[in-house]
Amino acid sequence: MSVAGPISVAYLNDYVPAWADALVEAVAEIFSRPAVRLDIRLDLRAKLVQERGQYHATLMVAGVLRNRPPTSSKIIGITDVDLFVPVLTFVFGQSQLDGPAAVMSTYRLRNEFYGLPRDDGLLLERSVKEVVHELGHAFGLVHCADYGCVMRASTYVEDVDLKGAEFCPTCQGTLHRNSNRDVRNSTVS
Ligand SMILES: [Zn+2]
Ligand SMILES: [Zn+2]
Repeated sequence: MSVAGPISVAYLNDYVPAWADALVEAVAEIFSRPAVRLDIRLDLRAKLVQERGQYHATLMVAGVLRNRPPTSSKIIGITDVDLFVPVLTFVFGQSQLDGPAAVMSTYRLRNEFYGLPRDDGLLLERSVKEVVHELGHAFGLVHCADYGCVMRASTYVEDVDLKGAEFCPTCQGTLHRNSNRDVRNSTVS
């Protein structure tokens, strides 16, 4: 495993929004490391929970992980299906804390979900924040109380709009330390 390697941003099952590449570029810029786009297929049938009409986020993460290229440090799957974990009504995304894989859905980030006109610019902005947030968890970051920090927890889409897409100085410091720790580990092995 190359923990110093690029971040893979993987679009699932032909979900490729017009801003697909812009999201990948934003990830590379915010994490100051290369990000590459992948297009992968997951069998979603086993992840669908019929009673809820939603997809189990933890199973989605496991499926995404199986598609991680050996050279990638982290992989995040991007989907447009509705995600949940058993204790919550829904989630915008899910991540393995300090692990290699995550998933993020645009299902509840779209204006249309709330009966508002479609806004691709806003959807990209929200998607960048949630992807960076989930990848932050994958780099070992926990939730942050700073209102502007991307690691602040978001329950509703309004919360997503209130926070920024970047890490506060404290989270940035932890991210930096964790990245260096990862690099050290990978060179010893
Ligand atoms: Zn979180
Ligand atoms: Zn923070």
